[in-house]
This record gives sequence, C-alpha cells and structure tokens, in this order.
Amino acid sequence: MDLTVLYRGPLASCDYDCPYCPFAKRRDSGEQLRADRAALERFTGWAGAQTGDRLSVLFTPWGEGLVRSWYRRALVELSRLPHIRRVAIQTNLSCRTGWLADADRDKVALWCTYHPGQTPYERFLGRCRELSELGVRFSVGVVGLESHLEEARRLRAALPPEVYLWVNAAEGHTYTDAEADRWTALDPLFPYSRHPHTSAGLPCRTGESVISVDGDGTVRRCHFVRTELGNLYDGGYRSSLGPRGCPLTVCDCHIGYVHLESLPLYDVFAGGVLERIPARPVRAPTPAGPDGRAPHRRPLPLVTGREPAENRLRTG
Ligand code: SF4
Ligand code: SF4
Repeated sequence: MDLTVLYRGPLASCDYDCPYCPFAKRRDSGEQLRADRAALERFTGWAGAQTGDRLSVLFTPWGEGLVRSWYRRALVELSRLPHIRRVAIQTNLSCRTGWLADADRDKVALWCTYHPGQTPYERFLGRCRELSELGVRFSVGVVGLESHLEEARRLRAALPPEVYLWVNAAEGHTYTDAEADRWTALDPLFPYSRHPHTSAGLPCRTGESVISVDGDGTVRRCHFVRTELGNLYDGGYRSSLGPRGCPLTVCDCHIGYVHLESLPLYDVFAGGVLERIPARPVRAPTPAGPDGRAPHRRPLPLVTGREPAENRLRTG
C-alpha cells in the first residue's frame, strides 16, 4: 500500500515571533517536550515497522520542529529506510543544516518558510545555499503580505532558478488583481493560493491514500476534518480508508487542497507533492490571452475525477 502520512504531534513552541501566527514565541514545558518526543518516537517506530507499505511522511508541526533533536533524528532515520519514499518537514529553517549530511538526500526534503523580520535575510539565504550544496531537496516560500514583497523579490532573484519559491495567500486577506499580479510574478502558482477552493463533495485523496495522524495516533483524513478514522497503532484505521468526498465547504490550505482530485496539483508537483516542489520549472504567465485576461486571472481548472490533460494548468 502507498500511504502518505501528515504527522502533527503536540509540539506548539517556536523560536520565532511572527505577528501572523498563534504559536509565535510559545514555550512548551519540559513535560510537553518529553510528551512530544515520546509521541514522535512512537510514530517513527511505527513508520519504520511498516515494511510492507511504501510511506511518504510530512511533518507539519504547529511550531518549529527542527530546533528539536528528535525531529532531526526522525528525518535522518526514516530517510534511510527502503520502504520510505519521502520524508519532509515544514520549517522556518532557523536550525543548522550539517546534520542533513547523514540523511538519504534522495528522500529527505524541506518545506522552508522565510519570515522577514524574524531572521536576517542573509542568514536565511545562507541556509538555502547550504541546502543546495548538500544536495537536499527544498522549496522556499513566504506569506504574501505587502510588507514581505520586497524581501520576497530579493530572495527570488538570489535563489537559483531551479529552487521554487512559493507564495501563500495571507489568511483572511483579499487580493486585488494588481496585488495578485505582483505575487504571481514571483510564484506563477500563486493563483491556487489566492482564493479558498470550493471542495464540498469533491473527491479528495485524503482518507484513502493520505491520512493525518496526531501525537496519540488518532487518524483523520486531513488536518481540517475532525472525524476520526481510527487509531494508527492498533491498525483500526485501515478498514476505514476509502474514497470519499470532502465534507467541508472549502479547503484553503495547500497541505489540504493539493490532494483534491479536482485540481491538477499531483501533476504539477509530481515527485514533490509533500515538499511543494513542482515537477517542471514554473514560468511567470504571459500578460494576456485572446480573451484579454491574463491566464492566471481566468478561473482555475476544476474537473471531476482524474483530469484530462487539456484541463491542466500549464506550468512548464
Ligand atoms: S516560524 Fe512558523 S510556527 Fe514559528 S511563529 Fe512563525 S509562522 Fe509561527
Ligand atoms: S479538500 Fe481539504 S478539507 Fe476537504 S478532505 Fe481534502 S484536505 Fe480535507
């Protein structure tokens, strides 16, 4: 069985203080950290034992995981196991990078977010260079706040073209076309993030080939639907896996809607779905099509079932 697991344990502390984040500068007590470590080690023990499956794992901690030794160790150890296809984590990249030399760099990957104001630009860029030199797969992104725009442009210009820079629409923010154009010039896939995706009843791979797991081993289809499918550690979730439509009205987070079958994102990110690396370089859209609208302002393709090629957003 091919299974993608999104793991989020109790860790909720972070070394950064982003004004847009509820976890900014939160501290976990020693007891909470021990519980997070125990939960993570239980999970990695389970993942290591699933030799009959092919697993892809994305750690999506509330806070920052890589400042904790147990997350670094989990990435290194899981990457070396034959049945693990990919192991990735969302990170602010505040940690050192040398430990990644011990990982299988064909399989380990980082989803890195640059938070201007939280770390000097040169330090963040230096970390990206270290990852490139180590041969680690990574994407880099920013939250699309106007105050981040110049720093994002500077970063895009400094990163090698093969490093994808993504832009997440800021939560609760509505973008004018002019604003969206500015972000789309940096990330041609920004139109996917600009608006929440209508998802009610649409087929979504979560709950079938993708699951979300918390520190207790409770399995849900995704981080956003609270219905429980069983527990990871007693295997009870397996009989609950199957195709099912989304029960929510909209899905507005990349780690959710990337799995919607009505969007072409498994093709766009083929081979790099978890770490958000497109299969082919993405290009800025051309100014206008025959209808006078820039391609990124036309409605995004929405199809049912597996998408025919002609409905796919052109990204290459
Ligand atoms: S780095 Fe991430 S988790 Fe930490 S405060 Fe910023 S947004 Fe929140
Ligand atoms: S579309 Fe989003 S909210 Fe709905 S089931 Fe899929 S991941 Fe969850």
